[in-house]
Amino acid sequence: MTPPIRTCLGCRARRPKTAMLRLVRGAGGVVVVDRRRTAGGRGAYVCEDPGCLERAVRGGRLAHAFRAPSDPGPELRGGAGAPATEPVERRRRERRARTAAGASA
Ligand SMILES: [Zn+2]
Repeated sequence: MTPPIRTCLGCRARRPKTAMLRLVRGAGGVVVVDRRRTAGGRGAYVCEDPGCLERAVRGGRLAHAFRAPSDPGPELRGGAGAPATEPVERRRRERRARTAAGASA
C-alpha cells in the first residue's frame, strides 16, 4: 500500500502525507501544526520546510484549503524564520490600496 498523496500548500509538490506536516484548523479558525496527526476535521499539508510553511501562510492559502476564514497560529506565523521583506512589502501595498480608496473623502 502506498500512502495517500497530498499537495503542499506552499510549493504544490505532491508527496506522501506521512512525509509532510499536517495543519488543522481549530476553534476560532486558528490553524496549528497537528504534530500527532490525530486531530479531527479537515487537514492541510505542507512540506516540512519553513519556506513552504511560510508560503502556505501567506496569500490566503489556508482559508482556501480549509474553505473558511483561517488565521495562522503563533507557531505558523513566528518560527518559520522567513525573510521580513516580502510581508512588509505586501502590507505596504495593501495600505496604499486602502488609502487610495479613501482618498476621495
Ligand atoms: Zn512544499
